Amino acid sequence: MENKITLQKDGRTRESVLEELKQLHQQDTKWHEGRAFSLVYHESDEHTEFLKQVYTMYFHENGLNPGAFPSIRKYEAEVVSMAARLLGGSDRAAGTMTSGGSESIMMAIKTHRDWAFATKGIRNPEMIAPLTVHPAFDKAAHYFGVKLIKAGLDSGQRVDLEQVKSLIRPETILLVGSAPQYPHGVMDPIAALAALAHDHGIGMHVDACVGGFMLPFLKKLGVEVPPFDFSVEGVTSMSADLHKYGFAAKGASIVLYRDQELRRFQFFVSKDWPGGLFASPSVTGTRPAGSIAAAWATLSTLGEDGYLRIYRDLLETMKRYRAGVEKAGFRIVGDPVGTVLSYESPSVNIHVIADLMEKRGWFVDRQMNPDSIHLTITPANAPVVDRYCSDLAESAEYARTHPELGGEGMAAMYGMVAKLPDPTQIHQFLYHYMDQRYQT
Ligand SMILES: *Cc1c(COP(=O)(O)O)cnc(C)c1O
Repeated sequence: MENKITLQKDGRTRESVLEELKQLHQQDTKWHEGRAFSLVYHESDEHTEFLKQVYTMYFHENGLNPGAFPSIRKYEAEVVSMAARLLGGSDRAAGTMTSGGSESIMMAIKTHRDWAFATKGIRNPEMIAPLTVHPAFDKAAHYFGVKLIKAGLDSGQRVDLEQVKSLIRPETILLVGSAPQYPHGVMDPIAALAALAHDHGIGMHVDACVGGFMLPFLKKLGVEVPPFDFSVEGVTSMSADLHKYGFAAKGASIVLYRDQELRRFQFFVSKDWPGGLFASPSVTGTRPAGSIAAAWATLSTLGEDGYLRIYRDLLETMKRYRAGVEKAGFRIVGDPVGTVLSYESPSVNIHVIADLMEKRGWFVDRQMNPDSIHLTITPANAPVVDRYCSDLAESAEYARTHPELGGEGMAAMYGMVAKLPDPTQIHQFLYHYMDQRYQT
């Protein structure tokens, strides 16, 4: 390990630094040209300019202390209220904003852990989640000392209810379902899970990081959306990402609880610090006020009609991607509900397809079990749908006539990973990858 870069004695001019930033920036994925399918949620140039304006207005303010910045307190309280109402919450529903889906999930798990300890004395808590649940749950379980037990799936990639039922034990504090899950855009059977949780007197978290600001609008547009929110008895908490399909600025998510009493277990307070009385809602201390203000501004400017307009278009775009993908000989995995899907191939190696698509300038999300390619459709992907689908059809044709490609590129690596008998080898590989990430 060699840290080659040191802080220079003399600073460079702003012009020279900006020049370097611009050059490096140009080499990144061209999300603006619709080349990426998650990571960036760009509604329109006008909306993004508006977000930047709001964000920079609050560039230096700190959401840590609402005493100093009462406007930030108001924005956060109103965003929470709007989200709670959107997601079937009553007057008693409560929540906080967080820095992202992962923090929302961490908070929900910590909250249920502390709730179960305080009300039932459970010291070795367990939770049950589908195999497809976001890794943030594994991370939170690891951070907060909750044992995560994974339940298998049915043929449609939904969690197997019978398995969940058989895994519930006296230590179980929480069941989890996704609405929808990220890999395939498929909804878990939320109502049935919630009924199970309710019967056992335990918590039920709905991970609506993807769906929280999508499903309510799809429903209004006539899409058949199974019940997934607080309108379902037994759902005790939800996560919903503003910085994804809420189209707000990054660093904005929501965690919600059925009532204020449960949220109480999320807060952290301390009276003994020489620095003064301390009370903090979530993991972070200092909180960027820009992302809170931008979330409020987004909800305020889009309104219900704005989201309906966005999703009317996105559903249309989704239909065209779906048709093109199927026409090129691929199969949609499961039955995705909204604007997220994945596809697999009955005949060619999908990781070869991923390599070929990357050569054509697309940033591809590869998935395993089943081997598939993921698409999260955003407005930036609308103008390039024909190009994508013809590239895909040509890639499929090429892969069919070149079976040797399975031994090259990332396809070779995915082939190898699938064959490794010892999962710790894959972990070692990933740790090595993370070390490499910090090579200067
Ligand atoms: C993105 C995502 C998360 C994690 O959110 P971050 O904002 O990336 O931390 C959790 N669950 C689902 C379903 C997601 O799609």
